[in-house]
Amino acid sequence: MNIAKDHTYDVIIVGGGPVGLTLANLLGIHNIHTLVLEQNTAPPDLPRAVSLDDESLRIWQQCGLIDQILPFVAQGAEGDVVFTYRTQTDKKIFNLIQSGRPYGYARGNVFLHHHTLVELTNGLNRFTEVDYRPGHTVFTIEQFPDRVVVKSKDSAGADSEYSCDYLIACDGGRSTVRAALDIKLKGFSYAESWLIADTFSPSQVTQKLQEGVEVWCDAECPTATIPLPGGYRRWEFLLRKNVQSDEYLDDAIIGEMIARRKPLGDAQVINRLIHAYKASIAQSYSKGRVFLAGDAAHLSPPFAGQGMATGLRDAANLSWKLAHVLRGSAPQKLLQSYEWERRPHQVKMLKLARRMGQMMMPRTFLQATLIKFFFSFAEQVETLKKMMEIRGQNVTPVYRYENMRKGSKVGHYIPQPTIGENGLLDEYLGRDFTLITFDCPAEEILSEEEQSQWEKRGIDYLWLRPEGETFSAYKVFDQWLAGCQRRMLIVRPDRFVFEDRILENGGKPD
Ligand SMILES: Cc1cc2nc3c(=O)[nH]c(=O)nc-3n(C[C@H](O)[C@H](O)[C@H](O)COP(=O)(O)OP(=O)(O)OC[C@H]3O[C@@H](n4cnc5c(N)ncnc54)[C@H](O)[C@@H]3O)c2cc1C
Repeated sequence: MNIAKDHTYDVIIVGGGPVGLTLANLLGIHNIHTLVLEQNTAPPDLPRAVSLDDESLRIWQQCGLIDQILPFVAQGAEGDVVFTYRTQTDKKIFNLIQSGRPYGYARGNVFLHHHTLVELTNGLNRFTEVDYRPGHTVFTIEQFPDRVVVKSKDSAGADSEYSCDYLIACDGGRSTVRAALDIKLKGFSYAESWLIADTFSPSQVTQKLQEGVEVWCDAECPTATIPLPGGYRRWEFLLRKNVQSDEYLDDAIIGEMIARRKPLGDAQVINRLIHAYKASIAQSYSKGRVFLAGDAAHLSPPFAGQGMATGLRDAANLSWKLAHVLRGSAPQKLLQSYEWERRPHQVKMLKLARRMGQMMMPRTFLQATLIKFFFSFAEQVETLKKMMEIRGQNVTPVYRYENMRKGSKVGHYIPQPTIGENGLLDEYLGRDFTLITFDCPAEEILSEEEQSQWEKRGIDYLWLRPEGETFSAYKVFDQWLAGCQRRMLIVRPDRFVFEDRILENGGKPD
């Protein structure tokens, strides 16, 4: 057989979904020679993620694409209702409100998946080091001690072969790469399927979104709906085990089901899917030079809105580690920390999604009644309400290490306050590490030897002074650190704290 052999890449990413494309953009920023192989020639019109959190937007800011993506995102304003729980008879029993922007963006957002994928794909054109090949299906991989060889078939049926230092499988839940590595998924599939439909209403195109996610606690047909920007709306209906699910792909039936909850108006069904969710996680995230990320590594039901967000965090975590190992500024074993750091958080998100699913899927009238009672009670009790939040402290990862000083912020995600009129902190952070100081310029803190070591790895300096345009950012860090005087932080490229040092002698080296 005639196989076209292409040259070698530093990294090959299999799958150009949200996780693969985000990873490719981040590697592009690090000038890493990267190839993305994607089987589709255009993003498919299938219902996919619609909700996303502030951390996801911050990662796309890090990709340099936030201005391109924000037009397809509806960020709620302070005080907006983001989540409403209703009884079967439409009575509101529980609300969650949009509050705070600790990471620079609204905490609960909705977005247009298809348009965002297009922007993430276009973003790759900025990098001469990144190649994107749509219409290329990877069908086999082979590992050697020093490289991975990948074979793909293009839409015309022609085979190609590529090799790379590291291969990242971002090829989704049915990952070909994961199967080729014989890595098993541990978990389960839900017995019931959901009917998921997207609608478009021409009359709603320019309407500001009035409500957030609405969930009906109804033992007969649990339902959720999510208004989206541009006149779109997502509907999700749980289908019981004994129904013939394909019948529900009829748009007239979907229209009737929607009309039971809200007037249909001029809404037309544009996408429909019957889907049984999985809650599972790969037994290992890597084998040799191959790593799994996103849905290839973990599959979550969407009830906590964290499936994609969890994958984007994988991309942010893995990208800088790959870049530093490939540049020679970190040892290869740094890559092992990808799984140590990410797995506990992914397990936590899976458990959160399952708990939320139990709340959304009452199986009997009795369960529905108990859940309604719980939500009515939670509405009155602030601490319970906080526990129900699928944002903020309940979802932001903390990477924990042994022997940490009490009160140390190592492994914590830093806040993103504004600087000056409109700027956001991350615009002042470097591509690699950033040393943030509060009392004096960073150059006065590191010894010459330390400074030279850090400069080899790549470091930028930021002095947040308690005056002038950095004053409000200083105050945010002062609160976050419970006092930022005589403190310095070294922040990783993915915005987690690498080092949190208490300075002796006012910070000057002895
Ligand atoms: C109905 C539904 C609703 C959801 N809602 C939400 C939500 O609101 N919020 C949220 O955070 N998450 C949600 N999720 C989950 C979210 O969509 C996924 O977690 C996210 O898409 C995972 O991204 P990914 O890039 O890892 O995988 P995918 O999006 O599955 O992308 C994988 C890519 O790999 C390509 N590929 C596969 N095999 C190959 C191959 N052999 N060769 C080349 N290319 C290949 C595919 O074509 C695809 O483009 C939802 C999922 C579903 C199904």
